Amino acid sequence: MLNNTEFRKIAHQVADWIADYWENVEHYPVKSQVKPREIYEALPEEMPANSEDFSAIWQDFQQIILKGITHWQSPNFFAYFPANSSYESLLAEMLTAAMGAQCMIWETSPAAAELEEKMMNWLKKACGLPETWSGVIQDTASSATLCALLSAREKFSDFQINEKGFESFTNFRVYASVQTHSSIEKAVKIAGIGKENFVQVPCDEHFAIRTDLLEKLIEADWQDDKKPLCIVATLGTTSSTAFDDLEKLSEIAQKHHLWLHVDAAYAGTAFLLPEFRHYLKGIEKADSYVFNPHKWMFVNFDCSAYFVKEKEWLIRTFEILPEYLKTQNDSLVNNYRDWGIPLGRRFRALKLWFVMRSWGLRGLQKRLREHIQLAQDLTRKIATHPDFEILAPTTLNLICFRYKPTHITDENLLNTLNEKLLQTLNATGKVYMSHTKLNGKYTLRMVVAQTYVLQKHILNAWQLIQERAEKLQTDYLENF
Ligand SMILES: *Cc1c(COP(=O)(O)O)cnc(C)c1O
Repeated sequence: MLNNTEFRKIAHQVADWIADYWENVEHYPVKSQVKPREIYEALPEEMPANSEDFSAIWQDFQQIILKGITHWQSPNFFAYFPANSSYESLLAEMLTAAMGAQCMIWETSPAAAELEEKMMNWLKKACGLPETWSGVIQDTASSATLCALLSAREKFSDFQINEKGFESFTNFRVYASVQTHSSIEKAVKIAGIGKENFVQVPCDEHFAIRTDLLEKLIEADWQDDKKPLCIVATLGTTSSTAFDDLEKLSEIAQKHHLWLHVDAAYAGTAFLLPEFRHYLKGIEKADSYVFNPHKWMFVNFDCSAYFVKEKEWLIRTFEILPEYLKTQNDSLVNNYRDWGIPLGRRFRALKLWFVMRSWGLRGLQKRLREHIQLAQDLTRKIATHPDFEILAPTTLNLICFRYKPTHITDENLLNTLNEKLLQTLNATGKVYMSHTKLNGKYTLRMVVAQTYVLQKHILNAWQLIQERAEKLQTDYLENF
């Protein structure tokens, strides 16, 4: 076991290793190339009975663990959405771990509670969210969405489900588009609403919810004695960063007295840029809103910003006050244990503070605009290449495209070809991209959002994509 002197020495070495790692991370194979069970088999069956030297642990970290890591901080990481970090965020996270404070109530670390309140207000202002709303940090957007559905459920049952269970409340209905994130369905299930009451509404040609159909479905449900409860709007879908028409949705929600939750998990960071705030039109009529600084705002996982119009519904849904948690200051301060599911909470506001101060609003805006510009430039290249096509508008910095040689029209063949292309690209270790299906078409997703990504990484990736696609077409299609 380490003592303080040994810790001091090793911690310096680890800090150096981290700096080296970030300096060289672009040269690691982005996607881990290990086989299933390879890491598991390399580890002993039981914990060691006696203390092991730290040097042995460190060696195994480098030899066993590192090869099973997919390098999310690599500037060649273009898959899913990013889980960005930054030097500032990393430093704050080290301090958070060092202090190891539980930030469940004000008294258990006043600075954590008050910094969190202040940071949520900074974010709210910087993103153009309504002034009167309140914010709280959640671990993930999934948790925030669950909180939204539970709050809606309790508001509309007058807190009777919390009291008595579901006995007299059935057939609540939740509406979202077919392009909505899987966390909505998960929340519907956990909140006891039932998957059958989750209504997924078709989308238009830009993958945004068909609001005309939505309204018909809500009206039919009222007729049918069901209880429309909540609409979930998506600003920036996971497949293609499509934006639902929030203004129209907010009118429908208001007219039919539904809770409106807004899932902007990824794209919410873009509202730091005034030129994208038109997508927020109608937000003042919504009830809750979530976005993840841990995706594109250079604040490492986990850090999800959840905002609510009226905190009363949230707090009354979750509050508990056993004797041992009562304090003298309960009416003056925020006790965030009542603003979400877990009791214990990490000090996550610190990394937001470090990043927002060190980068400044202008610095953040500059980097976001660079990412968007890089993606728009590449979109143009792909769109004008005769053998590739863009499959959804690049609204921000996610490019949805596929390889489509002019002479191939068979959709199944194109799907197979693009699936193979993605596998080939990812197997090189030089880039990592993911896929989705849009209108049945196998679609490559390339998101240009990694904190330290530069134009050269994008150009290299595009070069690689073209080379591999051509090779695939000669190797593979000849045998067809
Ligand atoms: C990533 C994402 C989520 C889930 O985020 P978590 O924080 O991992 O739960 C939800 N909705 C959308 C639109 C997303 O892009």
